[in-house]
Amino acid sequence: PQAGTLVLDVESARKQFGGLVAVNDISFKLKAGEIVGLIGPNGAGKSTTFNLITGVLPVTSGTVTFLGQRLEKLPSREIAKLGVGRTFQHVQLLPTMTVLENVALGAHLRSGVGVLQAALHIERKDEARLLHEAAKQLHRVGLGDYLYEQAGNLALGQQRILEIARALAADPVLLLLDEPAAGLRYKEKQELAKVLGQLRSEGMSILLVEHDMDFVMNLTDHLVVMDFGTKIAEGTPDVVQANPAVLEAYLGG
Ligand code: ADP
Ligand code: MG
Repeated sequence: PQAGTLVLDVESARKQFGGLVAVNDISFKLKAGEIVGLIGPNGAGKSTTFNLITGVLPVTSGTVTFLGQRLEKLPSREIAKLGVGRTFQHVQLLPTMTVLENVALGAHLRSGVGVLQAALHIERKDEARLLHEAAKQLHRVGLGDYLYEQAGNLALGQQRILEIARALAADPVLLLLDEPAAGLRYKEKQELAKVLGQLRSEGMSILLVEHDMDFVMNLTDHLVVMDFGTKIAEGTPDVVQANPAVLEAYLGG
């Protein structure tokens, strides 16, 4: 989609687990070519919001619209097929397979199956094409020197970038990243930020869930701040950072 096109429109999305309101009527938008940060203290409802968008969890009420299409009744594999790629809060790689193979499986994910299912279903004739696409994505994110390394041997920062490459191999329109910088060293965070900035310059739309405020400050076009399931602030990083309610949520949390 052209820059500025409305890619994701979350309207009053709500998720209750019994009496607990994990996501309390959250609304926000993301346009093509933007990096939007979804931030907030632990337990704020960020991952749950992700799970509502990707169909991992059904919404209690509200709507999620992706490129004009309503998602909230679709199974997660259909949502992936439409072009919503994601990574998970905890690394999900096959550690004894090569970097290249891990990404090749991702190229198969757009077809809607899980990683292990993908491993079992790839046909010989598709293999060369998938490996070629995987190598392309790995060069794109700067992992071109590690194609034949075992994924489990990479540093954590490289594993996170590898997971992004795997998501990219499914050719997403929108990339959802859940705390990609968590646990990374300073230099690894800088490397990751560089990759994300580059993807944006290529026109990728990214929703970035992050606990670490510093990481999102220089990287995002727009921030949505959650606390206890509720959106407490929204705007450019500068404006949000100066908002007393945001400081309170972070210092108090
Ligand atoms: P964050 O990602 O911002 O740290 P989460 O979305 O993981 O927050 O969690 C928000 C709230 O919802 C927390 O209180 C958490 O304990 C609760 N929660 C998350 N998933 C479930 C679930 N499957 N069942 C019950 N409660 C959940
Ligand atoms: Mg989380």
